Amino acid sequence: MFDSPAFLTSLMRVAQLWHYVLIGRVLAFLTFAFVPGIAGFLDHPSQWLVMAAGLPCDVMLSVIGQSMRRPRAVPSRRLRPVAMLCMILIALGTLLNAAAMFAAIAVPDGSSHFDAFTAIQIGSLLVAASAAAIVRPAFFAFAGATAFGGAIGIASWPFAIAGFVFLGLLIVMMREDIRYQRRATRAERRLVSDQQRALNLMRDFERAGRGWFWETDRHGQLVYISPTVAARLGRPASDLLGRPFTDIIRKRIGNDENEERTLGFSLSSRTPFKELTVRAAVVGEERWWSISGHPISNELGNFQGFRGSGTDLTDKKRSDREINQLARYDTLTGLANRSHITDLLERALKNHIGQPQPCALLLMDLDRFKAVNDTLGHPVGDQLLQQVAGRLTQIVGDKGQVGRLGGDEFQIVVPQLNQPEKLAGIANAIILSLAKPFSIEGEQVRVGSSIGIAVSDGPGVSASALVRNADLALYAAKDAGRGVYRFYADAMHNQASERKAIEDALRDELAKDELRLLYQPIVDVRSERITGFEALIRWHHATAGLISPSKFIPIAEESNLIVPIGEWIIRTACATIAQLGADYRVAVNVSPRQFANEKLPATILSAVSAAGIRPEQLELEITEGVFLDESPENLAMFQKLKRTGVRLALDDFGTGYSALGYLKKAPFDKIKIDQSFVLGAADPSSMNAAIISSIVGLASALNMETTAEGVETHDDLALIRGLGCSHVQGFIYGRPMELAAVQALLRDGGGRVEARGFKSAREPRLTIFRRIQVASGGYQYDAIVRNMSPRGALVEGLWNVPPGTPLTLEFGSDQMLSAEARWSAGNRVGVKFAKAVDMDALLGPKTVSPARGLVRRAA
Ligand code: C2E
Ligand code: MG
Ligand code: MG
Repeated sequence: MFDSPAFLTSLMRVAQLWHYVLIGRVLAFLTFAFVPGIAGFLDHPSQWLVMAAGLPCDVMLSVIGQSMRRPRAVPSRRLRPVAMLCMILIALGTLLNAAAMFAAIAVPDGSSHFDAFTAIQIGSLLVAASAAAIVRPAFFAFAGATAFGGAIGIASWPFAIAGFVFLGLLIVMMREDIRYQRRATRAERRLVSDQQRALNLMRDFERAGRGWFWETDRHGQLVYISPTVAARLGRPASDLLGRPFTDIIRKRIGNDENEERTLGFSLSSRTPFKELTVRAAVVGEERWWSISGHPISNELGNFQGFRGSGTDLTDKKRSDREINQLARYDTLTGLANRSHITDLLERALKNHIGQPQPCALLLMDLDRFKAVNDTLGHPVGDQLLQQVAGRLTQIVGDKGQVGRLGGDEFQIVVPQLNQPEKLAGIANAIILSLAKPFSIEGEQVRVGSSIGIAVSDGPGVSASALVRNADLALYAAKDAGRGVYRFYADAMHNQASERKAIEDALRDELAKDELRLLYQPIVDVRSERITGFEALIRWHHATAGLISPSKFIPIAEESNLIVPIGEWIIRTACATIAQLGADYRVAVNVSPRQFANEKLPATILSAVSAAGIRPEQLELEITEGVFLDESPENLAMFQKLKRTGVRLALDDFGTGYSALGYLKKAPFDKIKIDQSFVLGAADPSSMNAAIISSIVGLASALNMETTAEGVETHDDLALIRGLGCSHVQGFIYGRPMELAAVQALLRDGGGRVEARGFKSAREPRLTIFRRIQVASGGYQYDAIVRNMSPRGALVEGLWNVPPGTPLTLEFGSDQMLSAEARWSAGNRVGVKFAKAVDMDALLGPKTVSPARGLVRRAA
């Protein structure tokens, strides 16, 4: 009873009206005491004292009632003792009052039926009053009628007066109560409509799918769940009620389970939780919720269950994932981007327990991509990259992951693979596939690719080290003429650090005055007169000694240092021309980077005028590399240079990529035939003579001079002369020399020079056909030896081997020769043995073919 809040409120209401009871009882006391009729009331303390003793109870109850008038948020727990006290006071006050009153009014006439009679009368009145009290008008009817009836019955005006006084008291009391009741009803109605409104809002919210609500009982079983959630779960809400709340959440394993653990903990520890991300137990669909909840308890503080809300996170998760996708994948090609592929590489290097595992990295770079972009435009370049990505993913398949690092650079991570033949197979397939033309907007676009491969099969190779290695290998592949792959070898690292050291030193070499120009005579073949010189640069490094231009010029080009160095060369060469006089020309080499610099014509004009020479005394040697980029700017540069009046020579003809048609557009005065065609051209087994002859024919048809470079022997000189070459430059007429030596030469010979040298360059050579294995950089290649001498051999089957590469030729399991590559053209390599070889012991006498046999020449 005392647990019921409704009971407590009603009881307080009784206390609030008790002062009317007090007034009634005080009136009764005063009447008993002072109205004549009940004689001796004040004489009997058992009557007046007892009745008076009841009054403090009523006073106290009235005070409690009045103090409770202000509606205060008193917790029901604290109301309980007050309510008990009120009950005691009601009972005690009434007990004392009744005892005294009946003692006073009972007429001690000895007839026992009087007592029963009075009790019956009062009892019947009380029963009727209690029944009528349930409905107020009925009670008024009862009270009024009782008073009125009593007055008529007794026919006594004092009774009527007293009756009506009490009736008045009753009416005042009832009016107050009615007012209170009305107020309470209004408040209650307001409360109900507030609740209803809240309920409607909640329903709207639920229906809109913005969120949902749930409630459980004290055992964690659902007592409410929004119908929208039930619909999502594909079950009627009634099915879910009574089931554990955790049934609507999918249990996961792995890193993400933390949130579920928090949920489980909160539910069992009855603590609130907020915005936990959980996966919904929806079949066949990935759905995420964010849920919050707090424990609820009743008025008395007893735990009743959990109530909370949830929102759908699926869209947010999805957009998070899209953002993630953007962050991890290249938007143009859809391949993994740089950071993602790096991440994949790091993961591929270790197995699930963190131990190193084999993995290969292929770094691929498109050749001529820049030219495509520049000439056909970026949209075509973009489509090309997309098609390249398509071909790459097709070839790599599920063997690995392809990523784009940016520009035309691609990276391929191949986990669990370290066999060179398989990796070479992949690389080859890529090179072949990308060499096939791409069809873009109706145009056939051709590019090529170079690939560097690095393998991690030992412990402790970091991702960054592997990338660096693959980068060096790619560098080597490009250096080897592009369109090839290279495996990383330790030597590449040394080369790279050497390059770096050279670049650093080169930056301040100009200031240190360590560069010099040497001059090599260029001789008119018929008259044997010197027509000019080629200026060749030398670097006398303070500590490293003489550094060859073939080593530092490419580095200077890469770092663009070639521009200031080139300007110095042009000015120095012009000053030399001024010293040599009007009869001689000087040729300077102009690298592609210098050629691309728009200030070149101005530099030349200023150098020429500063030296006071005729412009045609200066010749610019431009290598075929320039033709890689057949852009309009390139042609315009040729025209500008031509207009300065200097001569132009095409250097190293035959080694590069030039389309012969280009010769017509570019206004060259001279073609320089590369020394690789010239050296040993007199050898009847070589095709070089025929090549030289056709170059000479072409040049004369275009009205150009020809210079054969690298003539060393009398045999070659005679051949060149016979083929109609106009000029010769080679050791046979002089090595590159200091200016002072040039001046001495001109003074002594009067401009003429004599051919001096061996008759033939080579030692006797044996033409053979022998399959061998070549080991280089930790890899094995199949190759064929075409001819050999005790000091060197011509090996076929190795593509683009950089000069200086150490090789081991394996003629058999116990016959290994250490050698070094000297030159390389296509799939042929000229190698020099580390020490002279006994050919008979190596090959056996029977291999010697007597018919073509030894080609011996006298030195
Ligand atoms: P290049 O322009 O083709 O120069 C000819 C190279 O052949 C020179 O090598 C020269 O010493 C060498 N040579 C000439 N006659 C013979 C011969 O009979 N036998 C042999 N074995 N070699 C001969 P060098 O001076 O080492 O220069 C190599 C390359 O470095 C040059 O090839 C040129 O491309 C570049 N280079 C040299 N000096 C400069 C320069 O001042 N500026 C630029 N941009 N490049 C330069
Ligand atoms: Mg040259
Ligand atoms: Mg040359």
